[in-house]
Amino acid sequence: MKPDNPPPAEPTLRYRVPPVSGNVVSGVGEAKFRRPSLVFHWSPGRKPHPWFALDMHFTMISGIGGPLFGWGSLIQRLRNMWQLRRANGPVAATRKPVDDPAAMAAEIKALVRRLGGDCIVGISEITDAARLEGGDLPYRYAICIGMPMDRHVMEHAPQPRAGTEVMRAYRRVARVAIEVSEHIRAMGWPAKAFGETKTTDLLQIPVALDAGLGQLGKHGSMISREFGSNFRLATVATDLPLVVDAPVDIGVEDLCATCRRCTLDCPPGAISDTKTLVRGTKKWYVDFDRCAPYFSETGGCAICIEVCPWSEPGRGPKLSETLLAKRAARQERKQAAAAE
Ligand code: SF4
Ligand code: SF4
Repeated sequence: MKPDNPPPAEPTLRYRVPPVSGNVVSGVGEAKFRRPSLVFHWSPGRKPHPWFALDMHFTMISGIGGPLFGWGSLIQRLRNMWQLRRANGPVAATRKPVDDPAAMAAEIKALVRRLGGDCIVGISEITDAARLEGGDLPYRYAICIGMPMDRHVMEHAPQPRAGTEVMRAYRRVARVAIEVSEHIRAMGWPAKAFGETKTTDLLQIPVALDAGLGQLGKHGSMISREFGSNFRLATVATDLPLVVDAPVDIGVEDLCATCRRCTLDCPPGAISDTKTLVRGTKKWYVDFDRCAPYFSETGGCAICIEVCPWSEPGRGPKLSETLLAKRAARQERKQAAAAE
């Protein structure tokens, strides 16, 4: 699948019989849209997927493999699992009517910022692109929250301290989502928080893209104007009437068209310079079969998101401004040439 990249690194954990390609499970080459299938990050209650053994290997070395990868990651993960017992719960019997969904959306965003401080928030409608096949997600809206990670720590990716910081960010952003979901349930509307990697029903990136938190980069992760790719997501799924946000264009496509930083720095060569057809959409896609073994072996990798120029603190707004201005100038020159 990757003629422009070197062969993959040897994975630590090898299957006696290689599992079905994760790219096939993900729908690479499929021209028709369908809901996404679970390919990694299994959670209890779901059928084991073809890469289950590698998934468990990753869970063990990034979680309970304390002596190898440090106990910090495990502690953060356990604390998050404990708080996520409050992700869903009883809904108040008396429902607060919502006459003005725009005002309610503003109120919820203000609550997120009050609880989360330096974070980004947006709202979108949940589409089938975000609903995992075989899951149950009977909610209309997604409140998407992004919280930055400590960049100085993340610069050490893929070392264990970076893995701990990833789990710490998940715990912190999950706490905000949990408290927002509790607030909504207290108003008499259903709401459920999603706040860790092992999700059962919801893919968080599609709803966050629709909610305008950022754009998809060549490395397959989101890029926001505020934090680049150096952030983690949590989501509240709810039926509370809200006004949704629009996707944004901050110039990510313009830079990814020429930048090759993540492509060159990805150790197993999992990132392609061309877009791939996946379940009916041509998009940036990371080769699962190359990334997953290295990702698991290192307890979470994250090299690609940290080398991305957008992730440099404070650089995003200026970068976006410059890219959009250059694009506008290019378009102007084109129009002028066409008019001659
Ligand atoms: S997480 Fe690591 S292995 Fe996976 S695409 Fe990014 S750099 Fe490559
Ligand atoms: S490193 Fe460069 S090519 Fe990769 S996602 Fe970031 S801007 Fe795009």
